[in-house]
Amino acid sequence: MTSYVNHRLHDDIRYFGGKDVDLCMNCGACTTTCPLSENAGGGFPRRVIRLIQTGQSDQLAANTDPWLCYYCGECSTHCPRQANPAETMMAARRYLTARYDWTGLGRWFYKSAWAEMAAIFAVGLLVAGLFIVWHGPVVLHRVALNTFAPVRAVEVGDWIMAGLLSFFLLSNAFRMVRWSLGEDLWRISAAVYLRQIPTFFLHLFTQKRWRQCGSPHGGLRWFKHLLLVSGYLSMLTLVLILLRWFQTDHIYPFYYPQRLWGYYAAVALLYPTVDFMISRWRKKEPIHRFSEASDWIFLIMLFLTALTGLLVNLVRINGWALATYVIYVVHLAIAVPMLVVEVPFGKWSHLLYRPLAIYLRGVQEAAAVERCAPALAPGATVSGS
Ligand code: SF4
Ligand code: SF4
Repeated sequence: MTSYVNHRLHDDIRYFGGKDVDLCMNCGACTTTCPLSENAGGGFPRRVIRLIQTGQSDQLAANTDPWLCYYCGECSTHCPRQANPAETMMAARRYLTARYDWTGLGRWFYKSAWAEMAAIFAVGLLVAGLFIVWHGPVVLHRVALNTFAPVRAVEVGDWIMAGLLSFFLLSNAFRMVRWSLGEDLWRISAAVYLRQIPTFFLHLFTQKRWRQCGSPHGGLRWFKHLLLVSGYLSMLTLVLILLRWFQTDHIYPFYYPQRLWGYYAAVALLYPTVDFMISRWRKKEPIHRFSEASDWIFLIMLFLTALTGLLVNLVRINGWALATYVIYVVHLAIAVPMLVVEVPFGKWSHLLYRPLAIYLRGVQEAAAVERCAPALAPGATVSGS
């Protein structure tokens, strides 16, 4: 890779929240403290800080270290210069998210909370406007949600949105893969790529590295985050795959799977989001001392999505027809922009980038072993000897 110094990288990282990079004297104490550095090539997180200090923006874009950090804050606690390496890693993740995004929207949203809120507001207005113009008959003597918002039409809208978001997210992820593997991308055998796929799904669904993240509350934080992810995936499954089963006008007893799964998704989203907002507000833990507007917007949108989804259910089972239709539209006017803005361009994308980074690390290590295998085989001679 051609190496040139990007004099703006330092300012860029400051923009993304890494305000103390200058204080670092590269002593390496953070690397020895980090409970995850052992499996990450040794120089982590110091190496990322060094890349930023020396303006190596392309090397930083090709580096997956920031995704291997789970933000436990241990390194910041032990840094002798109060250089906040954990926050620098967070800023590097924001920078990478914006860098992978070829549309430039991610960068724009991270740098301007007003732009992000305006985008959310505009998409929300569009959703509400579509319902105002195209809603079905308004039945008031009973709740007829599927008459007001026919499930098949909503389902088609969901799939169109999912297709568009997948396109943006996967094309951004491909840039991450291309930059990380460089020219090896086409040289590594298909078998190596395929053998590492279970690693990707293991880390996507369990986030198990987080449990190694050393603070005394690491296990609890892992559990809350896992709960949040399970709520998120439940919501997506119910809305994208099982909507005809989930959005029904029949009032099933509360123990029926539709209702139980919906309640689980709501609680699994509400509890961690409220907890994370309180922690960010109190700023007691090192990891919650510094919050960017994008962190708050993500949490508030998730919280409102879950809350309005729960409210739709409550007014529906109580037979309040007009309230059901109004809150349903409000719910979608919050949920859709949250997905549209956060999935491909914002904080949500880390759900894909983290396991992908671990997958890529596994691919690189397996490919290195494969390359060395002939030289290590019994009877092999060292070239030139
Ligand atoms: S961030 Fe702190 S602990 Fe890490 S290398 Fe810099 S000065 Fe040392
Ligand atoms: S925040 Fe935790 S996981 Fe991340 S670099 Fe620091 S010590 Fe390592």
